[in-house]
Amino acid sequence: MESSAQSRLSVIRDIHTRIPHRVALPADSAGRPLNVSEYYGINTFDLERIKALLPKQLVAKFMNTIEAGRKLDKDVADGIANAVKDWAISKGVTHFCHWFQPQTGLTAEKHDAFVSFDDNGKVIEKFSGSQLIQSEPDASSFPSGGMRTTFEARGYTAWDPTSPMFIRETPNTKTLCIPSVFISYHGDALDEKAPLLRSNEILSARAVELAQLIGDRTIKRVISTLGAEQEYFLIDRAFYNLRQDLVMSGRTLVGAQPPKGQQLEDHYFGSIAPRVQAFMGEFEMELYRIGVPVKTRHNEVAPAQYETAPIFEDASVAIDHNQMTMDMLRRVARRHGFEALLHEKPFAGVNGSGKHCNWSMAVTASGEEVDGENLLDPGKTPRENLRFLLFLVGVLKGVHRHSGLMRAAIASSGNDHRLGANEAPPAIISVFLGNQLSNILDQIEQGIASSEGTETAVLKLGVSKLPVIAKDNTDRNRTSPFAFTGNKFEFRAVGSSASPALPVTVLNGAVAEALGEVTARIKDAVAKGQSQDQAIWTVIREIVKETKSVRFEGNNYSGDWHKEAATRGLLNLPKTPESLEQLVAPSSKKMLVELGIFSEIELNSRFHVRNEQYVKNLLIETDCLKHMVDTQILPAAFAYHAGLAEGIASAKAAGIDAPQSAVAARLGKLIAGLQDKRTELDGVVAKIDNAKSEEEKAKILSKDGVASLLGVRQYCDELEGVVADAYWPLPKYREMLFLI
Ligand code: ADP
Ligand code: MG
Repeated sequence: MESSAQSRLSVIRDIHTRIPHRVALPADSAGRPLNVSEYYGINTFDLERIKALLPKQLVAKFMNTIEAGRKLDKDVADGIANAVKDWAISKGVTHFCHWFQPQTGLTAEKHDAFVSFDDNGKVIEKFSGSQLIQSEPDASSFPSGGMRTTFEARGYTAWDPTSPMFIRETPNTKTLCIPSVFISYHGDALDEKAPLLRSNEILSARAVELAQLIGDRTIKRVISTLGAEQEYFLIDRAFYNLRQDLVMSGRTLVGAQPPKGQQLEDHYFGSIAPRVQAFMGEFEMELYRIGVPVKTRHNEVAPAQYETAPIFEDASVAIDHNQMTMDMLRRVARRHGFEALLHEKPFAGVNGSGKHCNWSMAVTASGEEVDGENLLDPGKTPRENLRFLLFLVGVLKGVHRHSGLMRAAIASSGNDHRLGANEAPPAIISVFLGNQLSNILDQIEQGIASSEGTETAVLKLGVSKLPVIAKDNTDRNRTSPFAFTGNKFEFRAVGSSASPALPVTVLNGAVAEALGEVTARIKDAVAKGQSQDQAIWTVIREIVKETKSVRFEGNNYSGDWHKEAATRGLLNLPKTPESLEQLVAPSSKKMLVELGIFSEIELNSRFHVRNEQYVKNLLIETDCLKHMVDTQILPAAFAYHAGLAEGIASAKAAGIDAPQSAVAARLGKLIAGLQDKRTELDGVVAKIDNAKSEEEKAKILSKDGVASLLGVRQYCDELEGVVADAYWPLPKYREMLFLI
């Protein structure tokens, strides 16, 4: 029988035979390759298709319903159901599913066939409006954080008509996916999407109110926009299959550092290997077919690390599209003999992966297309600049007040390895604005604008020059967790495997609350006798002062910043359990519940689900490491030790020196040390078994658990450098990261 070590060596031997996997490019019947624009979205049922296939009057009714956020009438629902069924069947689709986002961070689906019996017992294809609008999966196996007891296991999925339906193709099946929200029998949100949609509504209301107050009466609806840059690693699947830690926990729990990591800085933006490009090409083609606007691709900083980024869209659609992107990364990677690793820190010692969430607010006519002005664009005229400044201080106020909540929204066991390490933004949430904008805010703070009329004040300030803050002019601070980049903010601390839903939801909420406050304060100042222009400047100035502590332009990675942040009173929460407490802190609860984004019950459930997930992930890692040590690493060390012992014995028998003795002695020490550390893992598990609550378990794991995992790892990694290569069962870093 082949040993693991032999399997590993045969992968290395054969890896050069892997060649780029070619697929047929989309072409017309004459074989002419199609432009992307010719096949983009052929598998989506979007607004355009609804307009093309439904009677005008139903389309109008549909649009009105969406804009008003009302329930769909039966005739509209039936009309769309019929049209989408015919369209889907004509493309060979046999099944449909409500595609939703339970609190697992992933998506869920249960497929139903269109087949049905008609009145005469004959098989037909059928799909009704009510099937389109609502479905009832057995909800008892989804996390609810105690919101739902099993005897009330009912949950409903309901179509979210603002996100286009799409067809998922696999060999032998085509399924119509209906983006949906997931709610309990009592109407509680069980998913990530429903609160996000609510946060969009309240943000729109508050932004419109403020815009109208300052004279922008045409603005009727505002949406949050999102462009999520997705980082990931690709490694050969054969290596992946030999690493139970990657298969079980998504990251390597052991692995010695290779002689070369990312220090040569030769991977970032480097030439993309042909086998990887072949993968990217097919991955992008698949996404275009289902209407996901992927735009950029490149090598990232770490070896074997890459990035894909889309054109930004309405945040609610962009979040669905990011889920489809992550799913497609995994699926298509496998077709090319790769495994896509979306974990935040698959490999120690090289950069981890993030998901930079580029976020802004845009004026829009309909819910679907981002066609309007960007409210965080400095604009060209003083009036636009003024609006820009008001929305900017709104964001500052929101982040300043809710930085803890923002930290909570990105907390996960995976992201803990990134935040605070010297490669990703720290666990302290601060805002970077860039030199130019910072200077302007400083001038405002010093009162240069004080009591003059808006136009002159703006001119005097030099704010009229704001338009030169074009995108390309803002300096970049790659170390900031939340950076202004010309006309949008980039929330860089979000983890690569996470759904952007909760981070965007809390950001929307924090800003909505702040914009409401800005409006109220302006009105208040006017009521007290200030002119509107004076009032606006007063409020901008006050908020610039109040939020100063959250602004930081320096190097966020430096130790000095940690000290300074502490003196400024900013939160520094490096671990998930303590971060999650911020989710249910009084200020968070007040904002989220008052704005109707979460009920208190829903919010508590998020807290419990995330705590539970953290505990489960760490226990899986602990269990997995025990298996690896017991069944792979120690046996390899024993086998090599036995080989050395044999050599020593025969040398002694022959009366010659046995230079292996020193190696054997060192090996013996390492083995004993590893065995010691290995028992610590059992100790942690015993402690967990005795813990009274999930929160207590999470805290134990974040201290003792993490420390023991690391302790075991150190011995394993040292052993990797001592045990003969031919005995080592686990693909090594230098192999996984550099061989393709
Ligand atoms: P970077 O230099 O960080 O790569 P890019 O300008 O390429 O920045 O944009 C990164 C992401 O930001 C893209 O997904 C892009 O579509 C998105 N983006 C650009 N403008 C906005 C906006 N107004 N709102 C949200 N996302 C945006
Ligand atoms: Mg970026």
